[in-house]
Amino acid sequence: MIDVNRQGEVWVFAEQHNGELQDVPIELMSKARRLADTLGVKLAAVLLCNGVKELSTKLFQYGADKVYLVEHRSLGHYQANSYTKVMYDLIHKYQPQIVLYGATTTGRDLAPRIASAIKAGLTADCTDLQIGDHTTVADKKLHKNLLFQIRPAFGGNIIATIINHDRWPQMATVREGVMPMPEPDVKRVGVIVEEKVKISKQDLPLKILEEHKRPKKVNLKAARIIVAGGAGVGSKENFKLVWDLANCLGAAPAASRAAVDLGFIDHDHQVGQTGTTVRPSLYIAVGISGAIQHQAGMNQSQKIVAINSDPNAPIFQVAHYKIVGDLNDVVPKMIKAIKEKTV
Ligand SMILES: Cc1cc2nc3c(=O)[nH]c(=O)nc-3n(C[C@H](O)[C@H](O)[C@H](O)COP(=O)(O)OP(=O)(O)OC[C@H]3O[C@@H](n4cnc5c(N)ncnc54)[C@H](O)[C@@H]3O)c2cc1C
Repeated sequence: MIDVNRQGEVWVFAEQHNGELQDVPIELMSKARRLADTLGVKLAAVLLCNGVKELSTKLFQYGADKVYLVEHRSLGHYQANSYTKVMYDLIHKYQPQIVLYGATTTGRDLAPRIASAIKAGLTADCTDLQIGDHTTVADKKLHKNLLFQIRPAFGGNIIATIINHDRWPQMATVREGVMPMPEPDVKRVGVIVEEKVKISKQDLPLKILEEHKRPKKVNLKAARIIVAGGAGVGSKENFKLVWDLANCLGAAPAASRAAVDLGFIDHDHQVGQTGTTVRPSLYIAVGISGAIQHQAGMNQSQKIVAINSDPNAPIFQVAHYKIVGDLNDVVPKMIKAIKEKTV
C-alpha cells in the first residue's frame, strides 16, 4: 500500500493496440471527468506506447487535462511485466487517488497485477462509479470523497457498492460499452508529461512474433436496432423467428446467455454481464426473462420492447412496451405488419 495524497489525480489507463486507441478508455473518460470535477482534481490519461504520441490529442479532446506519455519500442504491444513495472513506477511517483482501466483482456490482466504489486484493492466490472462519503461501522470514522465502485454481486442478485477506505489508489475496471461514448471537444488541449523508463530483458520475457486476432462476427455495439432471443424461443430452428424479425428491421440479432448456452446462436451475439453491453435506439427482447445479468447489458437502450408469455417476467420492469403473449404468435404478426408497411 502506498501512502497516497488524497488530493491525487484521477487516472485512466489509455489502452492502445498497435497504435490504435481503444474505445473503452474514451468511454471511461466521461465518467472519470465527472469524478475528477467532483473531487476538484485533474484528470490524466496514462499512455504507454511506441511512437504514437499524437493519440494524446484525442485524449485531451475527450476530457483529459494531462497525458502521462511513456514511449518505448517495447511498449507498442502489451506485455504483463513491462506494463506492470511502468504503471507501478508512475503510480508511486505521482500518487493518483483513483486509477481506472477498461475490463478488456489487457485491463483484466494488468489491473490485478498492479493492485497486487501496490497492495491496493481493485473492483472488477463496475457498472457505475461515484464519489461519496462513508462512516465505518467499527470506529465510526467518516471517510470523505471515496470512490463508490458499484457492480452486481452475489451472482447478480444485488447491486453492491464497494469502497476502499484504507487502500490507495482506489482502482476499478469497467467493461466496454458500460459508459456512454462522450462527444469530443476538438478545441480542448492539455499538458503532456513525458516519462522516461528503463525496461530490461527481464521485463520482457516474451517475444511477440506475430499477432492473430479473431475478428468479431457481429458488432452489437454499433447496432441501432437489436432483436434478442432467449431460452423462451425454444430451439435453434425456432430462433429463425429472431433472425427474420431482425432482418426485416435491419437489426442485429442477439441473445441471452441461456440461448447461447442452448446453442441457438454463438457467443458473439450474447448481451449482458458476460456478453456485450449495448445501448441501441431500440431493443426487442423475445422470450427473455430479464435476469439482472442480462439487464446489465441492455437496460441503457433508449426503447425496450419485451415479448414474454409471463406477465411477471422481470424484463417488463425495464421495458417501455410490454407484449404479454406467446412469441410464436406475436413475432410472425410483427414481421407481417412490418413487411406490409415497408412494401
Ligand atoms: C455470473 C453470471 C453471468 C451471467 N451473464 C449473463 C449474460 O451476460 N447475459 C445473459 O443473458 N445472462 C447471463 N447470465 C445468466 C442469467 O442469470 C439468466 O440465466 C439468463 O439471462 C436467462 O436467459 P433467458 O432469459 O433467455 O432464459 P430464461 O430465464 O429461462 O427465460 C425464458 C423466458 O422466456 C419466456 N417464454 C417461454 N416461452 C415463451 C413463449 N412461447 N413466448 C413468450 N415468452 C416465452 C419465459 O416466460 C421466460 O421469461 C449470467 C449469470 C451469471 C451467474
